[in-house]
Amino acid sequence: LAIHGGAGQPPAGGDEARAAAERALGEALRAGWAILAAGGPALDAVEAAVALMEASGCFNAGRGAVADRDGGVSLDATIMDGATRATGAVAAVEKVTSAIAAARRVMERTPHVLLAGPGGDAFALAEGVPAASPGYFLRRPAVAATPGTVGAVALDADGRLAAATATGGIAGKLPGRVGDSAVPGAGTWADGACAVSATGTGEMFIRAAFAHQIAWRVGRAAEPLAEAARRALEEVRALGGAGGCVAVDAAGNVAMPFSTPVMYRGVIGGSVGTGDQPSPQIAVFPDSY
Ligand code: ASP
Repeated sequence: LAIHGGAGQPPAGGDEARAAAERALGEALRAGWAILAAGGPALDAVEAAVALMEASGCFNAGRGAVADRDGGVSLDATIMDGATRATGAVAAVEKVTSAIAAARRVMERTPHVLLAGPGGDAFALAEGVPAASPGYFLRRPAVAATPGTVGAVALDADGRLAAATATGGIAGKLPGRVGDSAVPGAGTWADGACAVSATGTGEMFIRAAFAHQIAWRVGRAAEPLAEAARRALEEVRALGGAGGCVAVDAAGNVAMPFSTPVMYRGVIGGSVGTGDQPSPQIAVFPDSY
């Protein structure tokens, strides 16, 4: 299981904000690992890890989502099951606490892939995703260096891969803007070859078909995961974008490249079913890994 809490600038909130974010990453890794260690599906593990980070308020997702140009908050998320290629997403929803829970329901309880705006909110609330009470969102102003988008990828004991990503988008965005985190193939992808969750300047990740590009490179061009991820990130850079991703392939190789000064990230792994209790490994700056 590999997770990220966004690529970007060094944390502005000082050591305290960084420590809180690192604690939240550790909790998310342990929650996801508990599911995998019990033989549970990768899909449940990535949803649980992302939901914990959304609820923590430490990242630009869920409770901690940044404000748009007009001070509003809108959330994007995608979840994808590599075993079945089923995927669900929500874009620009404003009324629920967890966009990833809404995305999972779109995947499992509708014939659709993506529900946006008021329709997405109405569906998610009707499906029992908890409503965001007034004041729930922290509505962080558009300051640089808030820990960012959250995401997770996992490979389970049965060899299934899954990916999930959730975000409040780009701080100060135009109301109505939707980024790569709501677009399967751009910010999130999972198939039989690998699972990818991205973070960064979403417009360029969409234009690079980023997450799918990595899967294509691994599955069809037989490139090693790390090289595939590095090349896709290079294409984002050539388009004028920056960011990173976490990715895992069917053999359990993990890649976590980024082109920004920092990326909050963590990984946990071991042999499922052996009683292994691996500890989370967490890093923020490039040289700490
Ligand atoms: N990729 C996200 C978006 O463009 C933002 C981020 O990862 O920081 O909405």
